[in-house]
Amino acid sequence: MLTLLVLAFPAAHAWEHTGGAWAEDDFALEWYTALEYEEDSLAEGYGRTVLQDSWDNWYDAECAAIGHEYKGDRNQAERTTSDGLTTIHWEDPGDEIEPGVLGVTYSITENVIVKETSTRIYRHLTDADIVFNDNVDFGSVEDIEADCAGQTSIESVATHEIGHLHGLGHSCEDGDPCEEDDLVQATMFWSVGACDTQGAVINEDDIQSITSLYGSSATFEAVSARIGANPLAVEFQILSDSEVIDATWKFGDGETGTGLNPTHEYLVPGQFTVEAEVELEDPVCGTSTYTYDQLGYVLACEAPRPAEGAAGYFTVAHSDGLTYTTINHTDVSVYGCVDTIAWEVYKGTSEADITPENLVDLDGDSVGDSLGAWAPKITFPAEGNYVMVMNIGGPGGLRASFLPVVAEDRAAEGSSSCSSSGSSSAAIGLVSGLLAALAGLRRRRS
Ligand SMILES: [Zn+2]
Repeated sequence: MLTLLVLAFPAAHAWEHTGGAWAEDDFALEWYTALEYEEDSLAEGYGRTVLQDSWDNWYDAECAAIGHEYKGDRNQAERTTSDGLTTIHWEDPGDEIEPGVLGVTYSITENVIVKETSTRIYRHLTDADIVFNDNVDFGSVEDIEADCAGQTSIESVATHEIGHLHGLGHSCEDGDPCEEDDLVQATMFWSVGACDTQGAVINEDDIQSITSLYGSSATFEAVSARIGANPLAVEFQILSDSEVIDATWKFGDGETGTGLNPTHEYLVPGQFTVEAEVELEDPVCGTSTYTYDQLGYVLACEAPRPAEGAAGYFTVAHSDGLTYTTINHTDVSVYGCVDTIAWEVYKGTSEADITPENLVDLDGDSVGDSLGAWAPKITFPAEGNYVMVMNIGGPGGLRASFLPVVAEDRAAEGSSSCSSSGSSSAAIGLVSGLLAALAGLRRRRS
């Protein structure tokens, strides 16, 4: 069987949601502080001020229909997410928070759908509590900016947790490839460093995220294939609950466009982030602009080819005995454009010998084999003449190449030697190589 080499092609807009959301009637959201509302690393009284400020930070999302109301201290020492009262704890009453975690939002939903998009269902949040780690030295933005002694910005952490409380996820998770400033600098970025006050003010990505839950917002999707062979024409469609007036597009390849249903032809291979700035007319917000982007949304590929400077798709080097190492020279500079690979070994000396009858059994089960590794080690069954074939493919098409190899049973050479044997692989007629390979595969599976 042909083996998937590269993992599923990722495409994501920047922000994420948790899948929970408050209903319109829940606003203004009422919230309480627990008994120990004073955090001992903060100046007296600042604990309440900073929570108010952190809630208020989300008002920068002008078109999100949100609101909050502080109801005071409710003298609640334990955390109970099922009591329906949104409570913020400075202490960690259940010692639930692991070291290194600054704060946690615990929320629960009931099985009532409050919002539905083309890709997601949101269930009704009924309670959400925030607990801060009581072993962290928190500081105000002012203190940190004046003279930081290792404090963590409480406003950054509180604003982040209040984002979670509204149903927002992270702009990037720990370990995600994440380089775009807008994501790294978002309040909803997964971490914040000591002395770092970033995140104390929400940014454009955060605004998109909360507005898409609670305000006039729009998304888009491709209504034709967005992954395929270059040149690739992609048709996009704006989706919105609000009245859409117009949209301005950045297709990611330097080209722009307008309209609610444009088709753009990608002429250069690559992975492209698409952005639409959508003009909306909405009863809540009047006329507004909402920007929505999807990272790496379009993938236009050429058929696999050798990397620049490489003479062929692959070479083979002797390793030890009858074992040889393959070196794969296929260009992988556009991520996702190679996703399938199959190697075969045939008895013979030339392209004409690439036939199902000549397919070599490599693992001793009397059946010809196909290997799915990127650059497999091959152990030939005996000395002699062979033809190695690599079939490689992706959204841009399939290619096959072959290389005649004379297998000799000899000891490994000095470690300095890494020369490839003979000439580089030559591309062969796509169909003949692949058909041979697929015939072999079919036989093996039956
Ligand atoms: Zn978080």
